[in-house]
Amino acid sequence: MRIFDVTLTISPDMPVWPGDPPVLLERIASTDSGDEVNLSRLCMSVHAGTHVDAPFHFLGGKTATVDQLALSDLSGRVYVLQFDDRIKIITREILVQSGIPARTRRLLLKTGNSHFWEKGEMRFQTDFTALTPGAASYLVERGIKLVGVDYLSVAPFAEGAPTHKILLEAGIIIVEGLDLSQISPGRYTLFCLPLKLLSSDGAPARVILIRS
Ligand SMILES: [Zn+2]
Repeated sequence: MRIFDVTLTISPDMPVWPGDPPVLLERIASTDSGDEVNLSRLCMSVHAGTHVDAPFHFLGGKTATVDQLALSDLSGRVYVLQFDDRIKIITREILVQSGIPARTRRLLLKTGNSHFWEKGEMRFQTDFTALTPGAASYLVERGIKLVGVDYLSVAPFAEGAPTHKILLEAGIIIVEGLDLSQISPGRYTLFCLPLKLLSSDGAPARVILIRS
């Protein structure tokens, strides 16, 4: 059994969505300074780093918040699909031809985005690969329950709402900010565990893949 950690390390240097607060992770007590313990505090958007979007993020009202998502949807069998690095936008046609296996319920999309993490790129990238609304509709038709991507949004930078809304209205859980650079395509077992934040639109998650 091999365990792969596909979680980004949370650090003050990590890229965050333009306009979101930077990650603050600071030591507020230190044994080096004579304190009894080392003690840190964390202040960040719940959409920094590897994280889960709940329907409430875009839909509001009485839609599900992150603490209400089913663990049975978040973890289980998953298929990792890899796209050519040159693909900058994933359309419905590309997904149709990509060979998603029958009965796939959880799907992770590995694209050229994972090179950003591999290279340690800390500047926010606007030209990341993402899904069109048509691609999102195809995932709904295919009965997908969870989709994960390797940059900070499932949707193109300039046009976030349509793709997100199609997925979230169908109850598809979105996982963003995965580092899939070390992952070969194929079948794994996924464990995606977002922090249990009361009534939150999203939450940072530790995400691992297991190949047996
Ligand atoms: Zn998000």
